[in-house]
Amino acid sequence: MILVRLVVGPLQVNCYILADEKTKDAVIIDPGDDADEILRIVREKGLKVKYLVNTHAHFDHVGANKKIKEETGAQLLLHEKDAVVLRNAISHAAVFNLTTTASPEADRYVQQGDVISAGEISLRVLHTPGHSPGGICLAEHGIVFTGDSLFAGSVGRTDFPGGDLMTLLGGIKMHLLSLSDETRVFPGHGPDTTIGDERRENPFLNAESGFL
Ligand SMILES: [Zn+2]
Ligand SMILES: [Zn+2]
Repeated sequence: MILVRLVVGPLQVNCYILADEKTKDAVIIDPGDDADEILRIVREKGLKVKYLVNTHAHFDHVGANKKIKEETGAQLLLHEKDAVVLRNAISHAAVFNLTTTASPEADRYVQQGDVISAGEISLRVLHTPGHSPGGICLAEHGIVFTGDSLFAGSVGRTDFPGGDLMTLLGGIKMHLLSLSDETRVFPGHGPDTTIGDERRENPFLNAESGFL
């Protein structure tokens, strides 16, 4: 499997390009900005982008949806509970004195348990609301993309509309802490980590936190 991480936009979102090495079928997770740079890699590697998936619809994760969809014909996938968040991306960006490009509506809504396939890649959708209502994580064999739900040493902020810390921690406990310790975690911002490291050291998740 091909896995490329790009850090895009002013809020330094991790955009991930995943592709099947043989068929070149690809999925792009959180194309938040820098569409030209993402498309350059797509062309350089000869990838056929089947899906764009937003782990959630905050403006920093969706800004390159429009251009990449137009250039590649990929389908845009999102959890339905973030449809309104997607429509509000420009006004949410303005709160940070930033701008973004309006995204087209999702082609298809995904929910808990759905599988997104491209070649040999199959990403299982895990609904982890709490940072945003439609927040999802995407699990593959031995790896999980956690958007802004789980970071190395932290969890997503819960002070945006629709946010709730106990909901977020409940989803993380059910869907992420049930994965094996070796599972590699690729978050929406910052460095990658493992489920085992987070289980032991994340102040929101370890035994001393009192949250779980
Ligand atoms: Zn976010
Ligand atoms: Zn973010």
